[in-house]
Amino acid sequence: MIVSPAPKSYAEVIIDSAVRDLDRPFTYAVPTEEEGKVQVGSMVLVPFSGRLSLGYVVGLHDRADVANAKSIARVLDEPPLFDFDSQRLCSWIAGHYLCPLSQAFKLVMPPGRGRKVKQFVYLAGAGDSLCAGSELGEQILAELSQAGGELSVDTLKRKFGAGVVMSEIGMLEGAGFVCRKFALTRPAASAKSRLVVRATPAASDASALEKLPVRQRDIMEELLARGGIEFQSDLLSHTGASGASLKSLAKKELLEVAGEEVLRRPWLGSAAEEERHTPNPAQAQAIERITDAVESGVHRVFLLDGVTGSGKTEVYIRAIEKVLERGKGAIVLVPEISLTPQTVERFESRFPDQVAVLHSRLGPGERFDQWRGVREGRYRVVVGARSALFAPMSDLGIIAIDEEHEPSYKSDTSPRYHARDVAEVRARMAGAVLVLGSATPSFESITRARAGAYERLVMPGRIDNRPLPEVELVDMRRSGGAGQVPLLSRPMLDALSRTVSAGDQAIIFLNRRGFANYMQCHACGAIMGCDECEVSLCYHSRGHMMLCHHCGKRWAVPEVCPSCGAGPMKQFGAGTQRVEEEIAAHLPGVNLIRMDADTTTTKDAHWHLLGAFRAGEAQILIGTQMIAKGLDIPGVTLVGVINADTALALPDFRASERTYQLLTQVSGRAGRGLRPGRVVIQTFTPEHPAIRAMTGGMEAFIEAEITSRSNAFYPPFVDLVNITVTSPEMAAAARSAERLRKILDTDLQGTGAIVLGPAPAPLSRLRGLYRWHILVKSADMEQIAARLNEAVGRFYDYAHTFPHGKDVKVSMDVDPVSLL
Ligand code: ADP
Ligand code: ZN
Repeated sequence: MIVSPAPKSYAEVIIDSAVRDLDRPFTYAVPTEEEGKVQVGSMVLVPFSGRLSLGYVVGLHDRADVANAKSIARVLDEPPLFDFDSQRLCSWIAGHYLCPLSQAFKLVMPPGRGRKVKQFVYLAGAGDSLCAGSELGEQILAELSQAGGELSVDTLKRKFGAGVVMSEIGMLEGAGFVCRKFALTRPAASAKSRLVVRATPAASDASALEKLPVRQRDIMEELLARGGIEFQSDLLSHTGASGASLKSLAKKELLEVAGEEVLRRPWLGSAAEEERHTPNPAQAQAIERITDAVESGVHRVFLLDGVTGSGKTEVYIRAIEKVLERGKGAIVLVPEISLTPQTVERFESRFPDQVAVLHSRLGPGERFDQWRGVREGRYRVVVGARSALFAPMSDLGIIAIDEEHEPSYKSDTSPRYHARDVAEVRARMAGAVLVLGSATPSFESITRARAGAYERLVMPGRIDNRPLPEVELVDMRRSGGAGQVPLLSRPMLDALSRTVSAGDQAIIFLNRRGFANYMQCHACGAIMGCDECEVSLCYHSRGHMMLCHHCGKRWAVPEVCPSCGAGPMKQFGAGTQRVEEEIAAHLPGVNLIRMDADTTTTKDAHWHLLGAFRAGEAQILIGTQMIAKGLDIPGVTLVGVINADTALALPDFRASERTYQLLTQVSGRAGRGLRPGRVVIQTFTPEHPAIRAMTGGMEAFIEAEITSRSNAFYPPFVDLVNITVTSPEMAAAARSAERLRKILDTDLQGTGAIVLGPAPAPLSRLRGLYRWHILVKSADMEQIAARLNEAVGRFYDYAHTFPHGKDVKVSMDVDPVSLL
């Protein structure tokens, strides 16, 4: 007996809106004629509070749980935007990162296919010949008729002012001059088709071609020489023939012309031939553990802890080969793709024609095509930046995250997800293997590996037993005597001279992330920190004071260093340009390349600059953190770090962790070729554990740091939420933050959560907005998530009651990687 499924006549719809109160499914009736078309993941138009709104179907039922549900107005003619698995992933993201579900859906939707509902006004009948009765009304009608009778409300608002236009349109509509309608914007990207010419079987008859006029014969010869298929435009430009000749050939049935969809491929430079290396024992061991897991088809997480130059990429590649053999797909995340073209090339060359590349620098059409190629199963390996994690890869077998410690894996716009954590959820749902690779693993991953949640695979040495570079710390307190501290110490200058005269290359690194304005003792190198928060203090020239950006406590700048009681406190900061000038003065005639925000404004500037350096056109590369990662240039034997202390001065509990990661990563650029490398690090605090560890004792340093995190209740031992309150009004921002803190105190009672602040955010004013923040620490995010959302809801209710309160915004960043 065949039972037909019961008709699913009601749909649960999530409204496309950032408003928290609307973040729940609403029930709509499915019109009978649309029943087959509505699926989970369908994009629909639904009536919602007096207008049409875009929505996403998340469930189908045969019974409504509400009386007289409204009907779906229209089902958009699109394949479903997401499947059940993506929906589950989005639900996790929305729940963990405290964002509306509709916003999480944007992560998994086809790129460039997002739509918006816009309101339009159009002239009704003979409107323009009548008198509107008001000056503004007349102007609106004139504008409309000039624009051909129709304009979006947004356009009219811009032209005449948002405040007055809506009521005027209402009046015009009441009097029958205009009508309103809702319409969808067009998607930014769509499939592209090109005309393709194909030779028919008849074309293989040589005698038929002999009789053709010369022009037509040229076309046929060219076409056959190209294997019988070519784009029409290319064929015409190669032969200089006209469309008319093609037409008559088509009439003679020697060829056919048809539109075909093409996939736009981003240009990535030539894929250098990547050798298939025989794995060394450490690699072989790691590969075996990972491929065993792949074979078993059970979700596992591996932490691939391998020093710089230990050959981690080869491990990913081998594991992916195994995954592909089993008919499964792979996703590889790299931190910032535009800075690591080399890595992309290595995957392309090992998996020719199977790799899709997804990153932010693609055009909308290119990105859509890469994405579509993945969904259609054409590409089985995705290499990309953070958002490539959401590629629609079916039968996922592995996710590999290279440089897993990189903060760029955390999104800085809502949903503020961390790719590493979401990858773990996705891999678990798919029964896939997750490999996290780094020479400087995050403390999160180290802690999870210790707890047994991840399996740690160690690769302790470089390929071919090449030595890790030797590190020398230069104590800057001893350099320069009583006068100004020089930017470049004697040992640094000597090392540069020696490298250059040996014909080798050097990289000089200046960390500028974070603050130039911190105070450091010139005698002992101490950086002042908050006695309650374990973060360093920021110097504010306005008011000449120091401030803790966690708890808001203020200090006067001391006359002498409170730590050694002797040295004067000095303010710090230096730029790449000054470094360049000093090196040029010391080594005249040597070619330098400077890479920083100023020299890399044009689209492919970094590729060109790095290409020139790799090709040996310059001997010294000077740069900011953009040169710290991934570079594998065999000629580099010296790495110089101008000031190791800048990252330590960040008002962030991760300052030490970041310092060790950054210094190890930049150092790792030296001595990757046949000649051994050397690293010179200038510092005012050579005894600081993060810096001292560079010359040995790294394990002990990490151990001590992790213990102190645990003692002070910091991640990874608690979940942290950074709540930012912004307002264009200084007083409103401060007052709102105080009020929110009170609400949180009440709402989080009994949960064991710790609330810190409010304090001005380290970036206390940004794009015209005053910023305050509050930190919440909790041992159990799941327990406080709903309460935090409610607290923010209650805060907004309150904010609407006072002047400027409408402009106050609250955002929450769960597991923040930066507290700026
Ligand atoms: P990591 O990512 O760990 O810093 P890479 O994967 O970039 O290291 O490898 C460093 C260099 O060693 C690369 O040039 C790579 O081609 C090469 N390499 C990797 N594995 C082997 C091997 N088994 N034998 C020889 N060379 C290798
Ligand atoms: Zn403090």
